[in-house]
Formats: sequence, structure tokens, C-alpha cells
Amino acid sequence: MPGPKPKKRWGQNFLREPNTARKIVAAALSDGPEKHPVIEIGPGTGALTRLLLESDTPYTGIEIDPQLAADLRDQYAGHPHFHLEEKDVLELDWPALLENLAPSKAVVIGNIPYNITSPILFTLFENSTRLHSAVIMMQKEVAERLVALPNTKAYGLLAIFTRIYCDCRYLFKVGAHQFFPVPKVDSAVVKLDFREDPVADFPDFDLFRRVLRHCFQQRRKMLRKSLGSLFPADHLSKLRFDLTRRPENLSLTEWQDLTAQLLATKESSG
Ligand code: SAM
Repeated sequence: MPGPKPKKRWGQNFLREPNTARKIVAAALSDGPEKHPVIEIGPGTGALTRLLLESDTPYTGIEIDPQLAADLRDQYAGHPHFHLEEKDVLELDWPALLENLAPSKAVVIGNIPYNITSPILFTLFENSTRLHSAVIMMQKEVAERLVALPNTKAYGLLAIFTRIYCDCRYLFKVGAHQFFPVPKVDSAVVKLDFREDPVADFPDFDLFRRVLRHCFQQRRKMLRKSLGSLFPADHLSKLRFDLTRRPENLSLTEWQDLTAQLLATKESSG
């Protein structure tokens, strides 16, 4: 295949199936009459970029590879809507970028480097009140973790935090053979529709996060055991919650109930 040699360290597996590229772009641009500015993570050789620019929406690409960034500029610098940030997506000043695009909320799209999927998702969650939606292609197993239900192997922090920040839909699988070079794993595309005020229902979101992160470090242990290293035994004994259960068995609502009770007990004991 002509073009730059793919670099492994930046997870470069380029999509070479035009129909799939069209389906991904259509999913990102499908919502309503309002044209949201688009942010593409890792445009690479431009499989999605060309289609996005044809849609006539303001476009910002974030590409870490200087060679690919130069090629994209050569190709699109004259386009009125094209803007490129030659940066690491995890070091980019997202609030500043989104402030520039305000008052419109942005749509994020990307066939992202698989080794940094979780940090990218958490970056989107942190900035979600300025985002409308995101259509992301990722490793299929990770996509399954995003929509996993309690009591399944795939269920964990990613599923819970995804549910807090957005409505997430698994759209379709993309076979490994659709990429160059062919990766070892299949991919899938998900759509995230971000909520207006995601943490409004949490009286102490920091406490919620701390409790969950701690408990999921030992996902097979009973809650009584994990919580015992965060809270005194007399707090735990006041809870009306079955602490013989394990982290992977609790739904988001149950986690909210448990942490609200922990907060109340903490506050009432001064
Ligand atoms: N969008 C193209 C496609 O679908 O063919 C490329 C996808 S490739 C899986 C991932 C892209 O993300 C590459 O262009 C890579 O250089 C870029 N990339 C990798 N790490 C990055 C980072 N930390 N920040 C920004 N871009 C990154």
C-alpha cells in the first residue's frame, strides 16, 4: 500500500474500507438540524477526514505524528473549515479548544489508538458538558466493556463511568482485515450521547469515585473487606446494604445508594 509506513508506537492501523468510513461519519453527523463542530482524534492518512470536510462542518484534527500532520496540511490547508492541532490528544488543552468552539457543543470522532482508549474516554468524560456526542472505533472487547451489564465479566469501572456520562450504543463490528496493517484484534464502533449534567445526582462525586476505584482494584473481594480499609468498622455496621456482595454485582444505582449511605454515616459521625 502506498503512503507513509505505519508506526506501531502510535497505534497506526489505517482503515482502508470506504464503506465503513462512510458509516462511521454518517453515525457522527446524523443528529438533527444543528451542525456541530467536529473534532477528529488521530486523522492519520485521512480515511474519515475527507468525508468530514465534505460535510461542510468546522473541523479540528488532533494528530501526534508530524509526518502525517504535514501530509494532512498539504492536502487540506486551503479548506475553509480545516484546522489541525499537531499534538498528543492526552496533553491537549481540551477546555481551551472547546471554549473556542462554544457555544456549539462539539462532536468527537475517531478511529483511536487502542492502547490509550481508556485515558481518551476519561478525557472526554471530564469535558463532556461541552460535548454533544462521540463516535469512536476501538478494540471490540473494550467496546463491549463500555456497554456491559452487572454480573458479567466485562462489567467494571468503564461501564459504570460510561453510564454516568452518556448514553452509549454499540453500533457495529469492524473486522481486522479492514485495516492496514491488519491488527490482531477486531474493532467495533460505539456512539456516546453525552448527558447535560452528568454528576448532578451525586452529592459527593469525589467520594463516589474514590470508593469505586478502590473497590474495583479487588473486584472479586466482598465489599466489607474492601471498604474496611477506607471506613471504620462502626460506620460500615450502620449501613443498610449487603456488604457480602462484590463490586461486579452492583448496578450504578446500587453504587449510588451505597456511597450516599457512606456519606451520610461519615457526616453524622462528624
Ligand atoms: N483515522 C485514521 C484511520 O481511520 O485510518 C487513523 C487511525 S490510527 C488507528 C490512529 C491515529 O491516531 C494515527 O494517525 C496516530 O498517529 C494517531 N495517534 C496516536 N497516538 C496519538 C496521540 N496520543 N494523540 C494524537 N494522535 C495520536
